[in-house]
Amino acid sequence: MKNILNLSAEELETYFKESGEPKYRARQVYQGVFQKAYEDFAEFTNLSKALRQKLAQDFTLRSFKELDRITSPIDQTTKLLWQLPDGLKIEGVIIYEGKRVTFCISSQVGCALDCKFCATGKMGWLRDLTAGEIVEQVLQMKKLALRPPTNIVFMGMGEPLLNYDEVMRAAEILADEEGVNFSRKKITVSTSGIIPGIRRMAEENQPFKLAVSLNASDQNKRERVMPVARKYPLSELMKAAGEYYQKTRKRITFEYVLIAGFNDSAEDARNLVKITRRIPCKINIIPVNSEDPEFSAPSPESVARFEQAVQNSVYAVTVRNRKGWDIRAACGMLYASNEKTRVSAKRKGRQTGCETR
Ligand code: SAH
Ligand code: SF4
Repeated sequence: MKNILNLSAEELETYFKESGEPKYRARQVYQGVFQKAYEDFAEFTNLSKALRQKLAQDFTLRSFKELDRITSPIDQTTKLLWQLPDGLKIEGVIIYEGKRVTFCISSQVGCALDCKFCATGKMGWLRDLTAGEIVEQVLQMKKLALRPPTNIVFMGMGEPLLNYDEVMRAAEILADEEGVNFSRKKITVSTSGIIPGIRRMAEENQPFKLAVSLNASDQNKRERVMPVARKYPLSELMKAAGEYYQKTRKRITFEYVLIAGFNDSAEDARNLVKITRRIPCKINIIPVNSEDPEFSAPSPESVARFEQAVQNSVYAVTVRNRKGWDIRAACGMLYASNEKTRVSAKRKGRQTGCETR
């Protein structure tokens, strides 16, 4: 059975044409699937019973099984663990901060890039998600969230630019006015620095926002924690980022995971300013969250000092406040266990990256 969430409006049209149904049916069904987010074909009461049955035979509407749900009693941040039809697991997180409601979603099961501070990296790459599976995360979250999302970020498991086609297709489905109707400008694709993907986004003039995870401000340090930096060196990455801005006029957000004693010195801050100063951008500082003793977050004072050093030096750089969702931007670097409330089934171990980050 096919996942109907994977079908574009055109593909649905073809399906109905081949089934001898009028074209407008495709639109009705598309709206039911994405706009109304029906979870069962029985809910499509504008269709005949026979057609509903046919659809139910040919397609699935939901393919996830929720395995776990953890909600912070402090700020309602909700982390979800789903099982996919093939048994693999992915995470998504709903983050509330003031008026913002951010859905943090995954693009792959695991990740091949092996960043040393990242739990997803330890899983290795298991497979790419389909566009339908990416979209389903949002639909599942919408049902649970206290308010509709204001931002959708590809900062869960995986490297979105290594699953480019499905990620862009999913983002388009999410943005489609006939469907989920979510603002393109509020969808952020976060990359560890896959240069060909960044170039492609610029060439295709993709309307989505781009975030680039720098995490170190010199090549040597970056390579130590991000093996991908060997393939795509920092100098070339910054060049690609500059060209991206030239072409799209869209500001990149540079993410910088702050690790005590590794990349939090005054010199690191100076370097960060140096490499970003010519590119209109934002900088997002994220104190690392890891259970690995090798990677601990600097003290709040050190984080503040680093923030100041970056903020004071360059007019064009803004540093997002590290309170609120930013400190948890990577999904899974959520709160300590004493902040957690278990509201669903037993936890199935630490099998997903987000959760231990
Ligand atoms: N693969 C993409 C998107 C997913 S990771 C990327 O790397 O950008 C999303 C963000 O979480 C990245 O900025 C990454 O550097 C950050 N991150 C990963 N592990 C982290 C950890 N343990 N603590 C804090 N941030 C982390
Ligand atoms: Fe992959 Fe991003 Fe984690 Fe690096 S930080 S291992 S690129 S998910």
